Amino acid sequence: MAVLQTIDTLAPIREKIEAGERLDFEDGLTLMETDDLLALGELADLARRARGGGDEVYFVQNLYLNQTNVCRVKCKFCAFAKTRKQEESYTISADELVDDAVRQHAVASFTEIHCVNGENPHVDLEFYADVLRKLRAALPDVHLKFYTASEIHHMSMLEGCSHEDVLRVLQDAGLGSLPGGGAEIFADRVRQLIAPGKEHPDDWFDVHDTAHKLGIPTHCTLLYGHVETYEERVDHLLRLRAQQDATGGFLAFIPLAFHPENTVFERRGFKFTTGADDLKMIAVSRLLLDNVEHVKAYWIMMGLPMAQVALHFGADDVQGTVVREQIFQAAGASSGTEQKVPELVRFVRDAGRVPVQRDTLYNELRRW
Ligand code: SF4
Repeated sequence: MAVLQTIDTLAPIREKIEAGERLDFEDGLTLMETDDLLALGELADLARRARGGGDEVYFVQNLYLNQTNVCRVKCKFCAFAKTRKQEESYTISADELVDDAVRQHAVASFTEIHCVNGENPHVDLEFYADVLRKLRAALPDVHLKFYTASEIHHMSMLEGCSHEDVLRVLQDAGLGSLPGGGAEIFADRVRQLIAPGKEHPDDWFDVHDTAHKLGIPTHCTLLYGHVETYEERVDHLLRLRAQQDATGGFLAFIPLAFHPENTVFERRGFKFTTGADDLKMIAVSRLLLDNVEHVKAYWIMMGLPMAQVALHFGADDVQGTVVREQIFQAAGASSGTEQKVPELVRFVRDAGRVPVQRDTLYNELRRW
């Protein structure tokens, strides 16, 4: 009886997918509330393929760097940020960071550097522009995916200028794209509970809107598995979809599972998300975000075995080699900090899909 009810619930959504119709808020909620995980995965894969997706699964060779973990904000879900007085705090100069990246490049030959930071009130815009300029000179073929919308907003507040002014300075210095962090959950209720010191979602959107108009592609995210409701997840996804309709500059969507270790929430008894919720989040994202081409199963967050399953729930990207990730490691991720290309290739192939190494902009570099 339960199975019959589930089939009835998802049937109208399947009809919409097959007819190429857009799903709405109520559909999103129905998808979030279903317990029929396998039907959900099958539906997400159907939608992915109906919109032109094939067997390719993408990954990039990338290095993760952080210039500073000093942060003024104190988000309650964050295990990365420190105050300047804390022993573990650091602020790395441009020269040190560039030397480090050049040394790493000699052994890991990455095509992208992904860099996010705390909102450090003790450095200025030139600190950020300087490292981009020096990296572009030292590693001209490496794409610089630097600074979340929250950081861009923070820089604009410190400098007393607009998001556009900051982005133009950084673009001139070598900025290639923006990562998607800082989005968390857009609903005011959740933001007040988990990140009351963070910028308003309107500012997050204005940064991405402005970046897209300047020709800077960006990524988008959602942080799930804390205090948010299903309604708030769906609302978040639909706001991203509306932005993509307007400017089309999101390269990929990455659902990020909340990791409670070393945060306030660990003391309150919050647990890691379950595999079922991770797969549901991937599938519903794929179904609702009909205009964002790629959905990533971020292996460092969910582990490679679960990321492999997620490839059958609508994901078509496993992110990358991720040399030196620190943010999820600080919050208790147990997936290691680096993955070699042959291992990623093995996992993708064993999932029955075709591994494709890409650059940041999804140009194909190599296929296995
Ligand atoms: S999530 Fe970002 S803004 Fe929030 S405390 Fe951590 S480093 Fe600071």
